[in-house]
Amino acid sequence: MRILIVEDEQKVADFIKRGLKEEGYAVDVAYDGEQGHFLATTNDHDLIILDVMLPEIDGITLCQRLRKEKVLIPILMLTARDAVLDKVKGLDSGANDYLTKPFAFAELLARIRSLLRHAENHQAINLQVGDLTLDVVTHKASRAGQPIELTLKEYALLEYLMRNAGTIVTRTMISEHVWDIHFDTFTNVIDVYINYLRRKIDQGFKKKLLHTVRGRGYILKEG
Ligand code: CA
Repeated sequence: MRILIVEDEQKVADFIKRGLKEEGYAVDVAYDGEQGHFLATTNDHDLIILDVMLPEIDGITLCQRLRKEKVLIPILMLTARDAVLDKVKGLDSGANDYLTKPFAFAELLARIRSLLRHAENHQAINLQVGDLTLDVVTHKASRAGQPIELTLKEYALLEYLMRNAGTIVTRTMISEHVWDIHFDTFTNVIDVYINYLRRKIDQGFKKKLLHTVRGRGYILKEG
């Protein structure tokens, strides 16, 4: 899961970013509305945390613009204390939920989970490839009924591969979806994680699911 934070107060942005990364999310930050618009339309995110008071383009205008441009992912708006008008305008502009500053991080996390769960309801909650299953809400994976323990990054990688099962995903695609935009794609971190994952999902099974496509990337498929 990859989240975009649009917030001009660096302290707040850094605080949210740090907390979300600890929870295993990939996080990008934009410090004004213009940059936020650019990142939201050029990258694939699962959720946007959008502050209302922003330089360049304010949060309400940005939200309206993104919805008009068919960016339909969940948007959680951050509003100033007691700014009732902001809340109403925010929801009218197409935001899915709002949170009043200052907020407890636990509350932010709960809202994010709820929004993502909602979004997931429109998609499958259980991803399945052959006898490998992954529950995107509980993060539980299993193969042929045997549970598989995954680290946060392994989970994120497996989820991405399963959502794209049957198609080749390149290292660049993986780095953009599972890590963040500043990730150096020339490091071998991805290969290392692919190997961890391969050991966990394929070792001991006759039928391999995770395949390397030489010179191109990886593919998760049956047979
Ligand atoms: Ca602000």
